[in-house]
Amino acid sequence: MSLIVQKYGGSSVQDAESIKRVARRIVDTKNAGHQVVVVVSAMGDTTDDLLDLAADISEQPPLREMDILLSSGERMSMALLAMAIHELGEPAQSFTGSQAGMITEPHHGRARIIEVSPTRIKESVDAGHISIVAGFQGMSRESKDITTMGRGGSDTTAVALAAALDAAVCEIYSDVDGVFTADPRVVKSARKLDVVSSEDMLEMAAAGTKVLHLRSVEYARRFGVKLHVRSSFSDTEGTWVIPDEKDKVTLKEGDPLEQPIITGVSHDASEGKLTITGVPDVPGKAAEIFNHIAGAGINIDMIVQDVSVEHQTTNISFTLPGSDGDKAQRILLENKEAIGFQELSFVPQVGKVSLVGGGMRNHPGVSAKFFTALRDAGINIGLISTSEIRVSVITDIELLDKAVAAIHTAFGLDSDEEAKVYAGTGR
Ligand code: ASP
Ligand code: MG
Repeated sequence: MSLIVQKYGGSSVQDAESIKRVARRIVDTKNAGHQVVVVVSAMGDTTDDLLDLAADISEQPPLREMDILLSSGERMSMALLAMAIHELGEPAQSFTGSQAGMITEPHHGRARIIEVSPTRIKESVDAGHISIVAGFQGMSRESKDITTMGRGGSDTTAVALAAALDAAVCEIYSDVDGVFTADPRVVKSARKLDVVSSEDMLEMAAAGTKVLHLRSVEYARRFGVKLHVRSSFSDTEGTWVIPDEKDKVTLKEGDPLEQPIITGVSHDASEGKLTITGVPDVPGKAAEIFNHIAGAGINIDMIVQDVSVEHQTTNISFTLPGSDGDKAQRILLENKEAIGFQELSFVPQVGKVSLVGGGMRNHPGVSAKFFTALRDAGINIGLISTSEIRVSVITDIELLDKAVAAIHTAFGLDSDEEAKVYAGTGR
């Protein structure tokens, strides 16, 4: 008998009907002879609604209370799902993150997992129950408080439990059939991938592909957890994310031995772009700027520095979460004199489009084709960044979808069939 961890996202449990449907699926898995541990997200847009509600009450709610509030979304769905399973005649028990032994750092809103001790979950499944665990939350031993792990964190809860319980597979259920060559909400001709290496999946998640939380991919890779990303609305085989490039893949007849050059196109609409002009061209200025930014706890993404004007001044641009823009501007303006720059400008929302594929590192011409596709679509490029297996550019936000589609087509990723999106808003 093998143990399977299944994670159901918000759109899979958005209302009573959906919860009943998911319950059926879980019971079917158990009847097929497996032990089942389920991780659930909050119903539909509950987490966003709770955030909106808190914002109506307080401009800066205490982070401790915010985590208690947000963790309640997952508690609603776990209890309702347990009831739905009981209705089908199967025993089920739901557990909060802390009951499930998810021990995290004390940082509210972005806590990382320190330890997973799922003793109660083991006892529960060994006693023949279906165990249901609230996603994206845990408890800090240090502060004794409830913590949450950041938006989309339920995937990481599921993978961490799968690793701790030595599960045969961690199934991530959402409202699309798997990982696609581009977001099927944006590119109708996107193709579902049967297998993705975890290296490519990491780049795609980092570049904005939302079907898996970035941290869950990292976690699965480190602990060798096999992921199967699939839809809760169909029985279609989804996408397998293989834990390690070096791990053996079982190839079917006719499968290519080498990985394809390009895996897919990812995009992200959550970043803003900050430009600092007239920065003195002397050693240490970038260090100064980015130390201030890091000190404010802001994650940055792409950075570009211009060639300096007659070795006197230069401009530095970088992207960051749009919501951190005000904070970043404030901290830089406070230090304007010390740094010695002339001006700041900020674009709160830019588009980022990335082409990802492990095969591109030894295929010249990928970037040329990428830029040609953007030119032919009349899209101007803000910033560029590359890695061995990724090329990313910043575009105007209005042109983002067009850029994704143009690149998807240029690299021959379009499929003849229309990709299915079963539910959800992609929010
Ligand atoms: N409910 C949380 C969110 O919306 C966690 C999750 O769904 O994974 O971000
Ligand atoms: Mg999610």
